Amino acid sequence: MKIIDGKKVSIEVLDEIKSSVDNRVKNNLKIPHLAAILVGNDGPSKTYVNSKIKACERVGFKSSLFKYSDSISENDLIDEIQKINNNDDIDGFIVQLPLPKDINQEKILSQVDPYKDVDGFHPINYGKMALGIDTFLPATPAGIIELIERSKIQTAGKKCLVIGRSQIVGRPISILLSQNKIFGNATVTVAHSRTSNLEELCLESDLIISAIGKPEFIKGDMVKKGSTIIDVGITRVDDSSSHKGYRIAGDVDFNSVSSRVGFITPVPGGVGPMTIAMLLKNTLKACSLSD
Ligand code: NAP
Repeated sequence: MKIIDGKKVSIEVLDEIKSSVDNRVKNNLKIPHLAAILVGNDGPSKTYVNSKIKACERVGFKSSLFKYSDSISENDLIDEIQKINNNDDIDGFIVQLPLPKDINQEKILSQVDPYKDVDGFHPINYGKMALGIDTFLPATPAGIIELIERSKIQTAGKKCLVIGRSQIVGRPISILLSQNKIFGNATVTVAHSRTSNLEELCLESDLIISAIGKPEFIKGDMVKKGSTIIDVGITRVDDSSSHKGYRIAGDVDFNSVSSRVGFITPVPGGVGPMTIAMLLKNTLKACSLSD
C-alpha cells in the first residue's frame, strides 16, 4: 500500500507557483492577487479562508479578505462582488461557501466575473469544464486529478466509483474522469444517498473517490484488493483527547482500508492541501491571461 501524500504534492505545486511568481517579478509582470469574500462567522469557513491567505503569502501573491456580516442583503453582496469584478488589481476571487441560508448561492456565484472565477463555479466555467474546454477547474476535483497524475495512477479503462454528487466535488470529478483526456477515460459510476447497492459497487471498483462527509463510512471489507482510494471527506468528530476537542476524520476507515488497497489518501494531508494549491494555480492562470 502506498500513501498518496497530498501535503508533499501540494508543496511541489506551491513551489512551482512560487517560481512562476519570481519569474513574473523579474520580468516586471503583475504579481497575482487573490481575494476572498467571507460572509458571517462560520468557524471552519474562517479557517479555510485564513489558510488560503497564508498560502498566498507563501507563493508571493497579494491577497485581500473582504468580510461581511451574515445580515448583509443579497443585493448588497452583489454590489460588493461587482466592485471586485471591476477592481483591475484583483485577478481572481472566491466567495467562501456556505453562504448564510437567506442568500441564494447560485445567484451570487453567477455574479462573479468568469475571468476572475478561480473557484470555477460560474455556470460559464462549469459548462466549459463539462465540455472539456480549457477553463478554471473547480479546485478540489483539479487537486484530485493532480494527485492521480503525479502518483502515476492509471485511470483509462478502470472502473471508477464517485460517491457523492455535489456541485463542488462529486459531479465535476465524475465528469473529468470520464472525459477523453490523459487523466480520464475511466468508466465512471456516480453513487449518492439513494444508491441501493453501494457495497457491491465499491467492491468492483478500481478507483473510489468518496465525497460524502460521513466519518469512516467506508470499511476494509467494502473495497477491492489493490484498488485506489481517494478520501475527500472532512468531518470534525468530537475527541476529548485532542486539545481542540475534536479531530478531523475522512469518509474512509483508514485502519481497515489501507491494508487492502494499492493507493490511499490520508485525512488530513490528502486532498485537503491540494485544494488550496489548485486555487492558487487558477489564480496564476487568471493573472497570466491578462498579461
Ligand atoms: P455535500 O454537498 O455535503 O453532499 C454529500 C453527497 O454525499 C450527496 O451527494 C449525498 O447524496 C451523498 N451521500 C450522503 N450520504 C451518503 C451515503 N450514505 N451513501 C452514498 N452517498 C451519500 O458534499 P460535498 O460538499 O461534496 O462534501 C463532501 C465531503 O467532502 C465533506 O466532508 C466536505 O467537508 C468534504 N470536502 C472536502 C474538500 C477538500 O478540500 N478536501 C473540499 C470540499 C468538500 P444526495 O445527493 O442523495 O444527498
